[in-house]
Formats: sequence, structure tokens, C-alpha cells
Amino acid sequence: MKKHNFSAGPCVLPQSVLQQASQAVLNFNNLDLSLIEISHRSTDFVAVMEKARSLALELLGLQNKGYQALFLQGGASTQFLAVAYNLLEKKAAYLNTGTWSNKAIKEAKLFGELIEVASSKDHNFNYIPKNYSIPEKVDYFHCTSNNTIFGTQIKEFPSTNNVLVCDMSSDIFSRQLDFSKFDLIYAGAQKNMGPAGTTLVVVKEEILGKVSRDIPSMLDYRVHIGKDSMFNTPAVFPVYVSMLTLQWLKDMGGIPEIEKVNNKKAEILYNEIDRNPLFEGFVSNKEDRSAMNATFNLTNNTLQKTFDNLWKEAGINGLNGHRSVGGYRASMYNALPLESVQVLVDVMQELEKKA
Ligand SMILES: *Cc1c(COP(=O)(O)O)cnc(C)c1O
Repeated sequence: MKKHNFSAGPCVLPQSVLQQASQAVLNFNNLDLSLIEISHRSTDFVAVMEKARSLALELLGLQNKGYQALFLQGGASTQFLAVAYNLLEKKAAYLNTGTWSNKAIKEAKLFGELIEVASSKDHNFNYIPKNYSIPEKVDYFHCTSNNTIFGTQIKEFPSTNNVLVCDMSSDIFSRQLDFSKFDLIYAGAQKNMGPAGTTLVVVKEEILGKVSRDIPSMLDYRVHIGKDSMFNTPAVFPVYVSMLTLQWLKDMGGIPEIEKVNNKKAEILYNEIDRNPLFEGFVSNKEDRSAMNATFNLTNNTLQKTFDNLWKEAGINGLNGHRSVGGYRASMYNALPLESVQVLVDVMQELEKKA
């Protein structure tokens, strides 16, 4: 029996995708060759890359709207600097909602003046700041849609006339948004799309080419666009698995369908956290709670061993919270089945009976 995998990343992927992917490692497209031992310039792999790029735009509703999808290497962490390299001429504004925003800010500071419009650091990032103002005429505004570590999620994005950049690493393809409001979206694959090793960048072409600095080729979005995301050898296996996951999502009805399941999963778990006197949520405002990563604590820490044994015996994996928050974190990405959440809730109720 496969474990109930609540890991925060790398994380659960659809079982059917893992089966197809393992088959392709042995014999890809009946070529009698492995996916990972053929040229990335072969027609079979070029078709994979093109499919992955077009599925990404299609699922986000961004086809024929001036956007390009790229599958790059270096993780979301490289995008922290690539964004600034390509877009930051003088000043940029950032919303600080946790560890990943912080890291993005640190990198961008190397390139220009940074304005931190708001921060939730005063309460260990357990809420999403609101009612802040974004200065007019900055080069761009950057935010993190879902804070993987703290379990908060932006539900309403600010309206701004500036270029809007968003790190959606841990909730892309999980909920419906007007993605055309964003000028640049990036997401490491390993949370909701595929194995670590590739990062999706969706960028509106018209925002590029406006900075005066020279940009090294590997960090220049226009270079990658010009080469159809094949400037150098792409991460063939991660791109292939991402393509399969996007196809899986499309086949089930796309983002509107997965969003229903994700909302249901979040509802079941948060209801139990709120109902069960042995647990308390980490996030202060309910409306800021992430549907992807639920962070919670025991109200009585002497029960920790008992609870840990119970969930491990139930076949649950990856429930420990990040060290900067402690407690527990249940990551409920797209591929996590509803039944896994039910198993967790059952364990929480079992603890209540025992205590
Ligand atoms: C995991 C994560 C990152 C870091 O991604 P890497 O691919 O490891 O560089 C950045 N931002 C968010 C929101 C994340 O969840």
C-alpha cells in the first residue's frame, strides 16, 4: 500500500503519472530507447517540450495572450535573481510573507532599490498583510501566492498598474485565478507538477527587454524564448513528468475540477483542526489559511509521541512541520487523494478518544 504522502516538497504525484514515467524510462514511445538516453533535439522529445509548454498556457487560460511558457533549471531560487536581472532597473516593490519572499528580496537587492510594502514577520508570518499600498511606477511588484512553510495563501491579489510578478511554486494549477493579471509567474515543479529539476516560468513577452544591463544568456528570458526553451539541454525527465501531470490535470477537467477537490480536502482538515480540542491552527486569520499547506499544533505537547505513532502507523508520511514553525504541516497538493485527508482526520479523532 502506498503511503498517504503529505510531504511539502518534493511531494506526491499522481500514481498513473509515475507509472507512465517509469515505463518511459525503460522504453520511450516504443523507440526501444529510454527517455533519458535520447537527444533532447530528437523529434520525440521536442514534442514533449512543446506539449508541456502549451498545456501550461492552456490550463492557465493564457494561450494567445502574449505569454510564453518556459521550463528552466535552477529551481524557483534561481528565479529570485532572474526576475530582478530581467526586470529591475531602479526600484521594485515586494510583499514579505515568509521565508521564500525573504529569499526573493535578498537576491533582488543586488540589482536595485527594494521597497518592502508590508511584512507579516511581526507574528512569525502567520497572516497575510492587507491594506498596504504599492508605490506607483516601480519596475514591478512581487508577491508569493502560497507560503509553503507557514501555511498562508493570498486569496485576493492587490490591484496594481505595475508589472505583477508572482512566485506560485506551491499552489500553481491548484485554484482558479485570473492569471492574465500577472505578467510573470514562476513555480518550481516539485510542489504541484513534477520532480525537482525544472521550473515553470510564464512570462508576458512585452515586459521584457526594458532594462539597460547586459543579462547572461542562461538568465535571459528572451534567450530562452528565442530557443523554444531549448537554449541548453533541458531537464528532460522532470519536463516529461510535468507534461504528464499537466495532461492528467487536463483530462480530469483542469483547474476548476481540481479546485473543487482541493477545497474539499482543506475543508475536511481545517474543520477537524477547529473542532478537535487537541489541535489548534497556526494561521491567525481563517481567510488566510492555505488550501495547500495546513499548519497546526497540538494543544498539549505531552501527546506528541502518541500522535506521531498513530499517524505513522496509519501509513502517513511527511507530517512534521518546518523547523521555523514547528508542530505539523499537512501538504495537500493536487495529487493527494481525498482519502488521505480522511485518514489523517480519523487519526486526529482517535487521539481525542485516547487522550
Ligand atoms: C519550494 C519553494 C521555493 C524554492 O524552490 P526551489 O525549486 O527549491 O528553488 C520557492 N518558493 C516557494 C513558494 C516554494 O514553496
